[in-house]
Amino acid sequence: DVILSEGIDFGSLLLSQPVLDGLSAAGFQKPSPIQLKAIPLGRCGLDLIVQAKSGTGKTCVFCTIALDSLVLENPSTQVLVLAPTREIAVQIHSVVMAIGCAMEGLECHVFIGGRPVSQDKTHLKKCHVAVGSPGRIKQLIELGMLSTASIRLFVLDEADKLLEEGSFQEQINWIFSSLPVNKQMLALSATYPESLAQHLTRYMREPTFVRLNPSDMGLKGLKQYYKLVQSHPLPHKVFEEKVQYLLELFSKIPFNQALVFSNLHTRYVMLIVSCLASAGGLSQDQRLEAMSKLKHYQCRVLISTDLTSRGIDAEKVNLVINLDVPQDWETYMHRIGRAGRFGTQGLAVTYCCHGEEENKMMAIAQKCGLSLSALPSTIEPGLM
Ligand code: ADP
Ligand code: MG
Repeated sequence: DVILSEGIDFGSLLLSQPVLDGLSAAGFQKPSPIQLKAIPLGRCGLDLIVQAKSGTGKTCVFCTIALDSLVLENPSTQVLVLAPTREIAVQIHSVVMAIGCAMEGLECHVFIGGRPVSQDKTHLKKCHVAVGSPGRIKQLIELGMLSTASIRLFVLDEADKLLEEGSFQEQINWIFSSLPVNKQMLALSATYPESLAQHLTRYMREPTFVRLNPSDMGLKGLKQYYKLVQSHPLPHKVFEEKVQYLLELFSKIPFNQALVFSNLHTRYVMLIVSCLASAGGLSQDQRLEAMSKLKHYQCRVLISTDLTSRGIDAEKVNLVINLDVPQDWETYMHRIGRAGRFGTQGLAVTYCCHGEEENKMMAIAQKCGLSLSALPSTIEPGLM
């Protein structure tokens, strides 16, 4: 998914030579858009909230910032990275070692449950970058094995998962309060829900928000339209009209596969369009089966609620329909991002009622910096 920025290489980001050599040896020639935006800000010492969908290269963002700031002569831990799963922690370690391959004496270790603490103790004798799960890191600080005195950079990778309700909130609070007051903090996340924003404002001082705008997201080939529908006192009347428009679109547009988002009446649309659905009411197995059918081209249209949209990753989807206006711009971007991947052509159509829904759509367009056009009244196949 990583799309590289044309013309600009890592050399123009004023990084130290060993880090540049490491990036090159790791096969990273040019920064991705999020790397281009976030690395210079991070190197200035700002607290950052970096939000970009998965696969856009966020790991390299914080690894580069971390490595560029290290004092290798000091064996104590200077960077602490928390990750929600052991797999992610291990992956981060390998990226640190890859980008840090030209930094002689660099030590980075992974600290996760299920491994003996005695081994951690040995590793901590010299460990510039500590990567771990909140539970184990807290334990090591409590035991006095991990000294926090030299930590100058604190990273939350997959911050949305780390700070999810009922996950690691308490442990992270505890760890945070054991860190020096003067430090830089980076939070990286694919999504940015309100709850995460609230947590992060407790930790960070005036963080800079770094995110990709639609043109950076590789959605250049995606045409986005809205279609106004008459409002009606009876909601189902409105809905029926939207579905009529949907059927017309399906009959005229030469799409490969389509995703239809509707938070209401999923089953009703399913009956009319005779397609598959992936909604909250289905079991995990049923949802996986629907996804697999879509992926293997055994179905052309999948109806989804936002609840189930996260896992959808089907390459051939080139038409996204919103039967209702999503609640916020993040959801809109998330939905339409399922089509029109880099270099491919795609179409996104949002049906909205005159009035409230229309205003909501315009607000989203403004927030995302989109130029939305009204869907032409006669739909030609060439629209796609
Ligand atoms: P995210 O954390 O945003 O989901 P990752 O950091 O896991 O994304 O990166 C996704 C993939 O892109 C990885 O395989 C990584 O090696 C690759 N990648 C990241 N940055 C670059 C780059 N500048 N050039 C080439 N490949 C890159
Ligand atoms: Mg990541």
